Amino acid sequence: MKRALISVSDKTGVVDLARALVRHNVEIVSTGGTAKLLQQEGIPVTGISDVTGFPEIMDGRVKTLHPNIHGGLLAVRDNEEHMNAINELGIRPIDLVVVNLYPFKETILKPGVTHEEAIENIDIGGPSMLRAAAKNYRDVVVLVDAGDYGTVIESLDAGQPVSEETRLAFAAKVFRHTAAYDALVAQYMTRQTGEEFPVTMTLTYEKAQDLRYGENPHQKAAFYREPAAGADSISGAKQLHGKELSYNNINDANAAISILKEFKEPAVVAVKHTNPCGVGIADTIFGAWQKAYEADPVSIFGGIIALNRPVDAQTAQGMSELFLEIILAPKFEAEAFEILSKKKNLRLLEIAVGESDDETKGAASVLGTPRTTLKVEGGLLIQDLDLKTISAGDLEVVTDRRPTEDELKQLLFAWKVVKHVKSNAIVLATGNRTIGIGAGQMNRVGAAKIAIEQAGDLAKGAVLASDAFFPMGDTVEAAAQAGIAAIIQPGGSIKDEESIQAANRQGIAMVFTGVRHFKH
Ligand code: 5GP
Repeated sequence: MKRALISVSDKTGVVDLARALVRHNVEIVSTGGTAKLLQQEGIPVTGISDVTGFPEIMDGRVKTLHPNIHGGLLAVRDNEEHMNAINELGIRPIDLVVVNLYPFKETILKPGVTHEEAIENIDIGGPSMLRAAAKNYRDVVVLVDAGDYGTVIESLDAGQPVSEETRLAFAAKVFRHTAAYDALVAQYMTRQTGEEFPVTMTLTYEKAQDLRYGENPHQKAAFYREPAAGADSISGAKQLHGKELSYNNINDANAAISILKEFKEPAVVAVKHTNPCGVGIADTIFGAWQKAYEADPVSIFGGIIALNRPVDAQTAQGMSELFLEIILAPKFEAEAFEILSKKKNLRLLEIAVGESDDETKGAASVLGTPRTTLKVEGGLLIQDLDLKTISAGDLEVVTDRRPTEDELKQLLFAWKVVKHVKSNAIVLATGNRTIGIGAGQMNRVGAAKIAIEQAGDLAKGAVLASDAFFPMGDTVEAAAQAGIAAIIQPGGSIKDEESIQAANRQGIAMVFTGVRHFKH
């Protein structure tokens, strides 16, 4: 190794690497800011302009884009023609390239960033050098990750060349890196045009952690983060206490957070296997907790709890009496944290849902509509998240009797919950809490029967929400027998009339939303 080119935006670790190179008599060529730093550290550097014979121009847009650089990177050393060509032109080979790119991601995530600033932070020369060196990895060592500097320093100190295997691994890393970098630029620019951004979006995900296993112990798994995950997402949540999150934990916590986001008032959501098992709202967070707990004291065992207000000591005490997997909240008051952190395995996560949820929407606004993806064999299904909400004004009363004011409130509450229950879904509610949830059934009346049985006597005078229309009158009949007072459902079945007549016979008030919330 005779000659290295160093051009880095993130200067981490670069001084140590440069010292090692100098120690082993490797000449360092460097660009403006990098050269300045190395010189300040007393490291001898050749300026890039001395190699290109050109000044760095246009605020650095053109620094290294020159045959004297790219010839030195791309020449194949055992190709006589290549070597003759560069020798005749006085181009000298470059054996090591150390480059990391303009911070495009960090730039677009800065609050109030201008379009011009974003554009200026698209690196051109850096990726060109990285790609050239990576293509020619048999002859050139290429470093894009400061975490790999040590490997090269060790080789130098041991007097060994970097092995071909390692050079190939470095090159592969480079192409992964430049591909993800360009995918993010593409995603950002596509957002500006308003066009759809397709599947390549997945390229920009970053591995956050390997998981112990997936849904089951025999499945390998990892967690990948979006480059700009909001603090109101499971990716942006801050773990304060407890064991590492598992695959199922992350999936369940994600479900709990999306349900919680439906509510502005103090709310508590309990989740099991991605379905809500208890949801309660009240004037205080403790009140909401009591309601969520009473909704289903059996299923909550081993559950995930999400709260949209700071956890106080009283609520913490209540929760500490149960076995729970995770508690998510915008804040844990000191005393509450003390109570809950006594439990070694209980995971406590801070998440920006509740009072401060507006400033966290950065990712969606920069990169486009939030989506869900579902892997199918040989393909990927992509859709917008179901963020549809409704209010009283959107409802159509279809029965003789109109819902009372309290029934209307309970109907809208149950509707918010049923949206997050696996289809076919039926939710029964009364007194600002759920009392029966039928989830994931293959027929609608089956889901209703499960919910009704769970509610028991409480079903009398309660409301019922259905995520999709009734294909026939049987669900309304079952509801009437249990004493349900009011029903909310999308409507739109050819048999709507059957359901409406059944409701009228029983004095049930029924409203149509015109919106369906399938969730599979
Ligand atoms: P420095 O701080 O040394 O002045 O600049 C380092 C950065 O410039 C690196 O991130 C590198 O990728 C980038 N860079 C190197 N050559 C060029 C070029 O010719 N054009 C552009 N736009 N960026 C370059």
